[in-house]
Amino acid sequence: MIISIASGKGGTGKTTVATNLAVALGNDVQLLDCDVEEPNAHLFLHPILTATDTVTTPVPVVDEDKCTFCGQCGEICAFKAIVVVGETVLPFHELCHSCGGCMAVCPVEAITETGRELGVIESGHSHGVDFVHGRLRIGEAMSPPLIKAVRARTRPDGLTIIDAPPGTSCPVIAAMKGTDFVLLVTEPTPFGLHDLKLAVGAVRALGLPCGLVVNRADIGDDAVANYARQEGVPILMEIPFDRRIAEAYSRGELVVTALPEWKPKFVKLFEAIAAIVRHTGAKSE
Ligand code: ADP
Ligand code: MG
Repeated sequence: MIISIASGKGGTGKTTVATNLAVALGNDVQLLDCDVEEPNAHLFLHPILTATDTVTTPVPVVDEDKCTFCGQCGEICAFKAIVVVGETVLPFHELCHSCGGCMAVCPVEAITETGRELGVIESGHSHGVDFVHGRLRIGEAMSPPLIKAVRARTRPDGLTIIDAPPGTSCPVIAAMKGTDFVLLVTEPTPFGLHDLKLAVGAVRALGLPCGLVVNRADIGDDAVANYARQEGVPILMEIPFDRRIAEAYSRGELVVTALPEWKPKFVKLFEAIAAIVRHTGAKSE
């Protein structure tokens, strides 16, 4: 089973929930930190990162001796990542989405591919958790291919938890697409509700079951709870604002370690998710 943890709004508590859920369940859980622009789950799990792999994406290289400057490569590229100007071909690698279209349409096979570095994947083990994260190269704008590469490390069985990036655009879609359940972490404020609506819209467009964790549940108002009821999105856990949670976080400590009474609550959260996944699976069969 794959559970992705997303939110729309940043800073709502995704990483807090993802890391504590993984560790509360103990053995044989995999955690993928797909917030590749700012991975920080490792700061709480403290894994010894034993493997590092560079991830590249294919981009075109043009042999100008073979090129006839016909312009077909530039015409097919939706992102203007390759442009023919007179007797020069200019590839813009940072705009390239690696579709291979330019190479396919070139009538004289003047285009080959080289790898552009997107970032690295690091992995290790800690607290009974198999840990993998991606780290986007500084200056790199294209995170979805790196997120997909991190997700390609998903184990074939057992439980995988994905800590998704904030927002509702391509990187989040790459992190939650095809998962069995999306756990949306929100807070009961107008900003939280606004972004929650966007996130629920994205989850529904992907046809995925979802549920809510309302974090800092005792601040703000009841607009999130009313919205959840109207939309039929179950609230699976409420976490109050607790200074001790923020203090543990700032020390790089897990909530389930600093405040052990939270461990069974995260186990219950998982059981609620598993029941929904079993139910939706049974319905779609
Ligand atoms: P995200 O992954 O969504 O960006 P984090 O889990 O990193 O969010 O949490 C963001 C900040 O909010 C951290 O400083 C964390 O300590 C704080 N925080 C999260 N939940 C609580 C809570 N229930 N009470 C107090 N502080 C919290
Ligand atoms: Mg985070």
